[in-house]
Parts: sequence; structure tokens; C-alpha cells
Amino acid sequence: MSETTITTKLYAQGGDTAFPKIVLPEIPGLAKIEVYESNGGYGALKKAIGMQPDAVTDEVKKSGLRGRGGAAFPTGLKWTFMPKQTEKPKYLAINADESEPGSFKDRQILEFNPHQLIEGIVIASYAMGIRTAYVYIRGEYYKWMKILQGALDEAYARGYAGENILGSNFSVNIYIHRGAGAYICGEESGLMESIEGKRGYPRVKPPFPAQNGLWGNPTTINNVETIANVPAILWNGADWFSKIGAQKHPGTLLFGVSGHVNSPGVFELPSGTLLTDIIYKYAGGVIGEKKIKMVIPGGSSMPPLRGDQLEGVRMDAESLKNVGSAVGTGGVIVMDEDTDLVKVLLRVTKFYWHESCGQCTPCREGTGWMRKILERMNDGNGKVEDLDLLIRVANNIEGNTICALGDATAWPVKFTIQRFRKELEEEILRQARTAA
Ligand code: SF4
Repeated sequence: MSETTITTKLYAQGGDTAFPKIVLPEIPGLAKIEVYESNGGYGALKKAIGMQPDAVTDEVKKSGLRGRGGAAFPTGLKWTFMPKQTEKPKYLAINADESEPGSFKDRQILEFNPHQLIEGIVIASYAMGIRTAYVYIRGEYYKWMKILQGALDEAYARGYAGENILGSNFSVNIYIHRGAGAYICGEESGLMESIEGKRGYPRVKPPFPAQNGLWGNPTTINNVETIANVPAILWNGADWFSKIGAQKHPGTLLFGVSGHVNSPGVFELPSGTLLTDIIYKYAGGVIGEKKIKMVIPGGSSMPPLRGDQLEGVRMDAESLKNVGSAVGTGGVIVMDEDTDLVKVLLRVTKFYWHESCGQCTPCREGTGWMRKILERMNDGNGKVEDLDLLIRVANNIEGNTICALGDATAWPVKFTIQRFRKELEEEILRQARTAA
């Protein structure tokens, strides 16, 4: 089928760059393959198979697509790290673990647009010369695993996956691998250990996955939302994509908004959208029209922002870096003026303490010490000096561990204390008075 015979409503609903819906188009029944196809689905795969694999990678590279799983690393560049001349098998692993508190956006793609993810997986595999791909999905996502498996079966039946795809000599098999409920398996090397059937202990890097990934073979790991963008880039071209949203972090982002807002949910918006627009225009504003005390902009491990710091903040990697935070997974957690920050820190710290795999002493012990100190504060037995003690413990964890869980547990504590020192001191003194 030639490109011109396909009526494409997918891949940004006609190519609108001002307000595109790239990965969550508003098309009813899109999870069914007939609906996906009738809206132009798998058209990008047909186009890609007619291109040289390197040209596909070049297009993704030129588009400026960056990873949507937290680190915002350039996707096309990552693909170029895969060796071209190798006798070893190469693998693609899609990270659908989505365990970061405050993050719930990938499951929207799995539920409403699974074929675009599958199409992206096949295109990425073609570009990198990969014949086996895994989707690593968190165990709790049973419903979404079933939806994805159903879509995968349909894709196989129509020749979009498996052997000799669309009559070409390119083949790729896609397997779904369920996790067993460990946050740490969302870390890329923990994820690979888990696929290999081992305990999900993160590996020391280097070597990186492109050299030494699954079973010691070259492996690329990409997030669900990242890969779901790929068909749109192939279809509309790198230039089109690069003009959407923030220049250095182009495209749309899925923002999952939770906390004290009237209309929590997932909103697909151009990168660089104002944080205040996300909260007030799309998520319906704060419940009871209260003031905002704190916002975590990218999932629980990202440094928080003060409520009086939000004006003009744009949601893209560079803009958030400039205000001392990060876009992470786009999970925006809004907390109103009545929020007890000691309780927030205790909740977050308890989570990371529970999920620490225990390999590194600073993370294993440090998370436990921070939990104990915060419990003491929460019980009304805290002292103002405990805030400095918490910062010292956090500093001893940060940068001294095998994987990023260490930083993930240190940052919320350290930055919340730095940015809310006065409020926390008042809270400690108030709780101490109540307990006395
Ligand atoms: Fe395990 Fe924590 Fe070390 Fe990561 S930082 S490897 S979770 S102990």
C-alpha cells in the first residue's frame, strides 16, 4: 500500500503541531486492530520497512525524541549505541514497569493505544536489527497485560509481528514478561536481571546495556511512551516532531496529575506547557480553591517545588532543571496548603526503604535511618536539629550507590528540607507541643 492511500487520523490526528495528540489520540475503540488500521495504523511500519534501517534511526535522532521514562536521554542516540556488526543476538526491552509513585501514564497507552506501542516496537527493532523484543510489565498491571497480549495476538495474525513482517525478510518476536511487584525492576539493569529469571539486583555500570545487556548481549531499553512516539515520527517526519513543544525536548508529554486537584488524570500536552496551566486549566485547579504548598513535578523521586515558585515554570527537561527539579516521568503531585510535610516525607521514605534491594550500604541503611528519624518526628518526638541530620544522611546516600534509587530517596528529603525549612521547623515544634 502506498503512503497516499492511507487516511491517517492517528499519529497526531492529522499532523497538528499546535495541539497534537500523538500517543493518546481521541479515537473510540482504538485498542482494536480494525479501528487502528482504519485510522492509518501500521502505516508508519510500512513506510519504515521501505527505508534503510539506519535511515529510520537517523529520523528518530533528528526528531529530538528523548526518553519518557525519567532520564530524558536522546532516543535516537541511544539506538546508535547498539553494535551493527556482531554475531551476538540483540534485544529490545520495553520498560512498562511504571512503579514510581505518582506515575500512571504508560498504562493509558497500554489500555487505549496498544497497537501504536507494538508498531513502535517493530519499527525500533527493524532500525536496530533486533529479532527479539520483551515488554517488561509490572505484575500489578494484569488488566493491561491482558489488553497488550490481545493486541499482540492481533498484530501477529495480521503479519505485523513475527516472521517475515509484511512479506519482507525482517522478523521480530515480541514477548510480554510480567514482573513480581518490585520497584527496583523498573531500573534498567534490575529489569534485565528479572527477565533473565534472577533476583532484580541492579548491575554496576559500565558496562552499559548496549554492550552487555540481556544474557551478556547488546540490549536497548526504552520506555512505553518513548516507543509509542516512534510511528508518528516516521509518519510525519523528524522536522514535524521537532517543532512541537520545547525546542530541546520536543514532542508531547503525558502528564499524570494527582493529589489535591479537582480533576486528576493523564493529559497529553506539548512539552514546555506551563505547570500552572496543567494544574488549573486541565486538572481543574486545587480542591476547595486552597493555596498550593508543594508540587512534585515528575514522580515522587524528583525534587519538589514550592507553591509560591510555580509561576512561569514550564514542563520540559531544561526548564525544570533551571528551577532545581526534573521532569522525570511527568507525574505531577499537587499538595495543598494544609499538607503535613513530615507525613509526606515519611510516606515517600518508607516506600524507598521498603523497595531498596539492599545491595549498597548507604541505600539499605540510609533509607532505614531516614525512616526512623521521620517516624520520630511524626510521633511528636522530633527536634529541629533532626532536619540537619536528615540532610547529612541524604548526602551520604546521594551519588554513593549502584543505582539511582539512592538518589531517588535522598532528593525528596534533602530538597524538601532545603525548600520548606521554616514550615518543617514549625511543624516539628507544633507536634512536639501536641505530644507534651
Ligand atoms: Fe539496591 Fe539501593 Fe543500591 Fe539501588 S541503590 S542497588 S536499590 S541498594
